[in-house]
Amino acid sequence: MKETKIVLPDREIPKQWYNIMADMPHLPKPPLHPGTLKPVGPDDLSPIFPMSLIEQEVSTQRWIDIPEEVLDIYALWRPSPLYRAHRLEKALGTPARIYYKYEGVSPAGSHKPNTSIPQAYYNKKAGIKRIATETGAGQWGAAMSLAGSLFGLEVTVYMVRVSYNQKPYRRIQMETWGATVHPSPSNVTNSGRKILEADPDSPGSLGIAISEAVEDAATHNDTNYALGSVLNHVLLHQTVIGLEAKKQFELAGDYPDVVIGCCGGGSNLGGVSSPFLYDKIHGREMRVVAVEPISCPTLTKGEFRYDFGDTAGLTPYLMMYTLGHDFVPPGIHAGGLRYHADAPIICQLYHDKLIEAVSYGQTVVFDAAIRFAKTEGIIPAPESAHAIKAVLDEAERCKEEGKEKTVFFNLSGHGYLDLTAYADYIAGKLEDYEYPDEKIKQALAKLPAVG
Ligand SMILES: *Cc1c(COP(=O)(O)O)cnc(C)c1O
Repeated sequence: MKETKIVLPDREIPKQWYNIMADMPHLPKPPLHPGTLKPVGPDDLSPIFPMSLIEQEVSTQRWIDIPEEVLDIYALWRPSPLYRAHRLEKALGTPARIYYKYEGVSPAGSHKPNTSIPQAYYNKKAGIKRIATETGAGQWGAAMSLAGSLFGLEVTVYMVRVSYNQKPYRRIQMETWGATVHPSPSNVTNSGRKILEADPDSPGSLGIAISEAVEDAATHNDTNYALGSVLNHVLLHQTVIGLEAKKQFELAGDYPDVVIGCCGGGSNLGGVSSPFLYDKIHGREMRVVAVEPISCPTLTKGEFRYDFGDTAGLTPYLMMYTLGHDFVPPGIHAGGLRYHADAPIICQLYHDKLIEAVSYGQTVVFDAAIRFAKTEGIIPAPESAHAIKAVLDEAERCKEEGKEKTVFFNLSGHGYLDLTAYADYIAGKLEDYEYPDEKIKQALAKLPAVG
């Protein structure tokens, strides 16, 4: 019988994370303090992060031990299965061998608990009682709420008000795990109250929600802040995806010619690809492809320069491909792919041509999602569907060229709490929006020259 799932036993959960900073040809430039323009030090970050995570943020040690308590919780859903997409291959009539790693098996339905669990663990160990964080569509808020409940940490989530009103199921998921969820802007923080005074009906934005969460953490001694993507320690934690996949490919007697992941902040892409990039850096021929929406084309159209990590300009300057921190993303359904920049690690790898990038509009992305759902069964998250579209294009090229390539992608989550997006697709209401070059130029022209 041909194998469809390649599964590993619990004892094969990786015991260490892989830190690609040990092997990158060029390290990302350091984050800069917006006041002094000097590299930020541990003291700048310690009001909102525990020292253990700050150490991971700057570490260039290749392997970092995963704590026993984190492994115990990972075992609730890890190792995640690697699937061979036989039915999709057949439907496409492609000679390509298509594989996907399925991260939707986590309790929150995406890859995000791979980092929310260790982040909760290190904060708990540092004596922190509460985590304040923001969430847009709700995936990160849900993953952090889950982690808080498993480690006995309180979680306060500032959720962008439009999503709070339009996406009640994710809010209920967070509340079920015991979190307190405020629609943002809220009247709980100074930054929230300021916005509400000016505009009582403000729909909110991720930038406003970040400002509220950071203020909450900075003004309470027992409270820290947590981020679900972009930072080095987040990408580090996500490497369990790629490390497991490498073992699973060994079992399958195969190896990917191309590794594909959708890219919002870059954490699932970094996590799935880093262990394979290790081989590429050491001479193996293979490709890594980042897939983004044409409405938020950070790698494909952004500029590589220092910018703020948030809209309000509260964070350090980070060296990233950016559309400008006041970029206002159009309301596409892949809410997780609407960040104005990408992780500094991903950006440096892209700059050094170790990663490629492509972008697609949401109608072709949902066409791909439907083809996948009808053959493989799983309804993918709209974010993950971007990777699927790139896979279909690779498979088509293999067909045209008669090549038997091995194509591997990360299915970062399921779409069962995103069914409104599918309803809009079925009703023919999805529209493509390509972010105009002119607007990108305008936003970038406003950036201060730093670094
Ligand atoms: C948040 C999210 C993403 C985008 O975040 P990355 O940091 O780029 O991985 C992608 N897929 C799913 C399912 C998500 O929840």
